[in-house]
Amino acid sequence: MKYISTRGGISPIPFSNAVMMGLASDGGLILPESLPVLSNDEIKDLEDLSYNELAFRIMSLFIDDIEPEDLKRLIEISYKTFDTKEVTPLIKKDNVYILELFHGPTLAFKDVALQFLGNLFSYLLSKDNSFMNILGATSGDTGSAAIYGVKGKKNINIFILHPHGRVSRMQALQMTTVQDKNCFNLAIEGTFDDCQAIVKATFNDLSFKERYRLGAINSINWARVLAQVVYYVYAALKLKKEGIMEVVFSVPTGNFGDIFAGYVAKRLLGDLIRGLILATNENDILTQFVNKGVYRRGTVVQTISPSMDIQIASNFERYLFYLYGQNHQRVREAMEEFDKKGEITFSDDEIREAQRDFSSYSINQKDTIDIISGFYKETGYILDPHTAVGVGAAKKFLKERGNAQIICLATAHPCKFPEAVERAIKKKPDMPDAMKALEGLPRRFEVLPPSIERVKSYIEEHALTS
Ligand SMILES: *Cc1c(COP(=O)(O)O)cnc(C)c1O
Repeated sequence: MKYISTRGGISPIPFSNAVMMGLASDGGLILPESLPVLSNDEIKDLEDLSYNELAFRIMSLFIDDIEPEDLKRLIEISYKTFDTKEVTPLIKKDNVYILELFHGPTLAFKDVALQFLGNLFSYLLSKDNSFMNILGATSGDTGSAAIYGVKGKKNINIFILHPHGRVSRMQALQMTTVQDKNCFNLAIEGTFDDCQAIVKATFNDLSFKERYRLGAINSINWARVLAQVVYYVYAALKLKKEGIMEVVFSVPTGNFGDIFAGYVAKRLLGDLIRGLILATNENDILTQFVNKGVYRRGTVVQTISPSMDIQIASNFERYLFYLYGQNHQRVREAMEEFDKKGEITFSDDEIREAQRDFSSYSINQKDTIDIISGFYKETGYILDPHTAVGVGAAKKFLKERGNAQIICLATAHPCKFPEAVERAIKKKPDMPDAMKALEGLPRRFEVLPPSIERVKSYIEEHALTS
């Protein structure tokens, strides 16, 4: 399997190069040349596998330049850090299924991808005796998961930008208490979109990127999407074994990375995945896209689900590529139009196609709180505010469309957002011991203005150069 750019400006490259490139050198996003489709027999063959075995089989469809034994080992060590062998347990609560994606070291779904990516980077670098400096922006959870993915690894330094004062207390605590000397937290005086813009601009400075061997860890990295495809397949197959032949996933969405992995899984599995519910908070640019066919930039609203407080979804371009019939030219034009006018509009045919892939609902903060409290009363189960947005969207879907088996992705442990949870259920969620232990530790971070130049010079001073 070779990899291409959505904008058509790179010649096909192997998986390892795609991982190292991060953002494509033509400014586009990297995708496989074609999306595999599994036959019914092939699907049947995957049904009884453990999570790790399944991960190996699914990833092998997309990776042909890593020795199978090495890939197996990378998967093993990546998911050993999870507190359950199932990695992503699926449970039924009320009239929905909950796919718990928060059993990794930082208690959010991003660990599933970033534990793997950290080990993958380290493996690829050691193969050719090289080094890299990772640069990423986070709205909260990516940063800690990325840092935990590479902390202490040789030949990797990591620089993580987060919006100063706009991530939850627990998120900030997780990120800034890591003492390893290869980890650097930059608290930017601005929004997540500012952080993301700085990262994009820095990657687009190709000589800077080459000099410091910048690597991406944001959801623009294809390896992250790939690792996330696995749990969609895992959950759908689990229910298939129970005789449920058609499922819908509800996905709390920010950067469109997680739900794009769902889209790839849907292409892989065909009818087993009937659809994807794209759930947003007040930052509903993607809901407007699905329901009205307009993708228009707004201003970021701060909410109780901060990891979804995003207006420009960096992975959306990947979906655009398929919506435009894999036409690179049209992707380029649309992205230029968006840069200039802050808006892309779609034809009726395109809107219909998007609505075949996705249903979408925006759940406001008051409703999110009500969902956490109602769900807790009904089931005794505590949803984090992101998961609650997905559950709220699932409930709306059930009301409008009737019967469906819906798997709601539980993207974070409720203890990461104790303030919102406490508002809903009048008590704080239990804090795992590992989190409690962070409270007394010294914090390491640097406050910087939202300036590309300032961030670049900070990197220059602290980067690995050999
Ligand atoms: C990152 C994150 C999301 C959004 O995922 P995307 O891939 O950016 O769409 C949702 N919930 C939580 C808890 C997250 O950390």
